[in-house]
Amino acid sequence: MRFEFATATRILFGEGSVRDVAPAASAMGCRVLLVTGASPGRAAPLIASLEDAALTCLPFAVTGEPTIQLIREGAEYARRERCDLVIAFGGGSAIDAGKALAAMIANPGDPLDYLEVIGAGRPIVHPSAGFIAIPTTAGTGSEVTRNAVLASPADRVKASLRSAGMLPRLAAIDPELTYGLPRAITASTGLDALTQLIEPYVSVRANPMTDQFCVEGIRRAAAALPRVWDDGGDRAARANMSWASLLGGLALANAGLGAVHGFAAPVGGMFPAPHGAVCAAVLPHAMAINVGALRQRAPESDALRRYDEVARLLTGSAHSTAEDGVRWIAQLCRKLEIPPLRAYGVSEPDIPGLVDKAARASSMKGNPIVLAPEELREIVARAI
Ligand SMILES: [Zn+2]
Repeated sequence: MRFEFATATRILFGEGSVRDVAPAASAMGCRVLLVTGASPGRAAPLIASLEDAALTCLPFAVTGEPTIQLIREGAEYARRERCDLVIAFGGGSAIDAGKALAAMIANPGDPLDYLEVIGAGRPIVHPSAGFIAIPTTAGTGSEVTRNAVLASPADRVKASLRSAGMLPRLAAIDPELTYGLPRAITASTGLDALTQLIEPYVSVRANPMTDQFCVEGIRRAAAALPRVWDDGGDRAARANMSWASLLGGLALANAGLGAVHGFAAPVGGMFPAPHGAVCAAVLPHAMAINVGALRQRAPESDALRRYDEVARLLTGSAHSTAEDGVRWIAQLCRKLEIPPLRAYGVSEPDIPGLVDKAARASSMKGNPIVLAPEELREIVARAI
């Protein structure tokens, strides 16, 4: 047994935990770049508590998934304002933006100097400025990961800034912040969370520690996700989804992902589709193709046994097989009214380009079996 595990320095979990952020923040800095999502008003109580703790807040609102240009502008603003601490309060977009900005405050130059794939890919040498992540959705797990995904609209791709020094100093996960989430966002982010538990569990990089998180998270999410869809005010189910999302982040940051996320980067780069929505649309089809490929080419593999276990966790039945798990996920996607990729403008002629990019995506390296181009094509064709 040999593995590595790294995560945020400190994790606060539970209803009301956002109220413990201000005292922790005042020990980390004085001038806060406060990165929020499209509804900055939701951060008003947090801002009041930070100001009560004698911190100066400089707001920075992120309306969509972060772009290279946005991070360039934000970093200039933060350096000019001498911010020494970044707090991100929002969904995955706000947290990734905050994480990237905290890195760029501490490292000279432009995001493109450090960006993977489309940038120079130089190592990020200095640890980030103090960074606190407060998720307001239950899905991305970005509060405990070491990368920030940035879009390059010019290249129509997404790529990551990545460094162990980018792990947050504090992650505060407060399920109360998710109580008011709209239904469609509850559904897509919830399925992203489930994807981020299933993919690390069957990943070629899975390790005994992440396995524990995945098993617990899949079981919790399978029970809680249909419940938060039926009743957004179900507090216990909301807490379980926040817990599952955190577990997914812990797992993916240390065990990698697979084909669903391999497609999420190019689809999200080429079309205005939110990350969670893409993962939700692709998950049942990628699972079906993976299970089929394993049955055909690696029937004795550990990955297939793991897909059987995923099915048992999802269905609650000890007799379920991998195929039952695929059916269960497809049914959940129908219940949660997950739109197909064509809803975001993806169509047949886009398939070859998406397959080509997905095959080279970093997430694809975790997939439990190397998929042939025609299998990748089949995944997108079904997801459209
Ligand atoms: Zn994801």
